[in-house]
Amino acid sequence: MEKLLELQNVHVSFQTYGGEVKAVRGVSLQLAKGESLAIVGESGSGKSVTSKAVMRLLPQKTSKIKEGKILFEGKDLAKASEREMEKIRGAEISMIFQDPMTSLNPTMTVGKQIMEGLRKHQNMSKSEAKERAINLLKLVGIPNPEIRVDEYPHQFSGGMRQRVVIAIALACNPKVLIADEPTTALDVTIQAQILDLMRDLQEKTGTAIILITHDLGVVANLAQRVAVMYGGTIVETGTVDEIFYNPKHPYTWGLLASMPKLNADSKDLLAIPGTPPDLLNPPKGCPFAARCPYAMEVCVDHMPSYFDVSSTQKSACWLLDERAPKVEPPEEALV
Ligand code: SF4
Ligand code: MG
Repeated sequence: MEKLLELQNVHVSFQTYGGEVKAVRGVSLQLAKGESLAIVGESGSGKSVTSKAVMRLLPQKTSKIKEGKILFEGKDLAKASEREMEKIRGAEISMIFQDPMTSLNPTMTVGKQIMEGLRKHQNMSKSEAKERAINLLKLVGIPNPEIRVDEYPHQFSGGMRQRVVIAIALACNPKVLIADEPTTALDVTIQAQILDLMRDLQEKTGTAIILITHDLGVVANLAQRVAVMYGGTIVETGTVDEIFYNPKHPYTWGLLASMPKLNADSKDLLAIPGTPPDLLNPPKGCPFAARCPYAMEVCVDHMPSYFDVSSTQKSACWLLDERAPKVEPPEEALV
């Protein structure tokens, strides 16, 4: 596997009036060329913070990458200067966010917004950039791109706006596309279309994707590998099949159990009881211990290390220790 992006033991903290919030605590991840990786977890699990750290888009005054490396093609982005990052953002690594309206400029035509990056990073002439903008609109499935290129964001529907955002993100052929809850603000049928589009584009362009989501259901269609985050740490990681069909971490079981099933009423959805840990005072043991139905004494005092389930799956849970009782996933977690 040719490594494109590698996070090594990344720690990110925020300074607040209450003290230091340890939002990301030792995250290690790898992304290969052209691969798609989903980072899944509840809000506050650290998934967005992790991706913003990669882009170096965290607030400079109140947050800090305290430890670790973020290697992109071998270069440590955690230590890159703002000038170096400006060359990378949008050109090598781009990002799309949940709400397309806030990421588009309402006073500029969509064409101009696509052309901005092309002019800045690729030195294209105006007419070349416009032609490329039209082609990109076509690529993301916007009808009549020759006309729509001169229209403003408010003239597009929510789903079409998110397509425009994706066109902007892909304009410079980035090697990595980070999509943070890209479909959460859209209704269900549009969500499916946008996910299809992203999968399609990934195949066509070979861009590696990091998909950030709270919804495991979104993952199945798009990602090849999954990292499950909880309490600022990765609790389990594996291929999509491993995470869906052979999950080992009780938090992953909880996520799977809370996924809507085809044959069930939405009222049968099982939420995981309890609340995520307070990252001002993170637990010293397993971050999930307070909510875990299987928690043992060891879990409270000792952070579990990663146990290898296979060559591609790792899980940070003491249940995988040979001395632990054998526990099977609950029926609700079976896909
Ligand atoms: Fe539950 Fe213990 Fe495993 Fe944490 S380490 S998920 S508390 S069994
Ligand atoms: Mg988020």
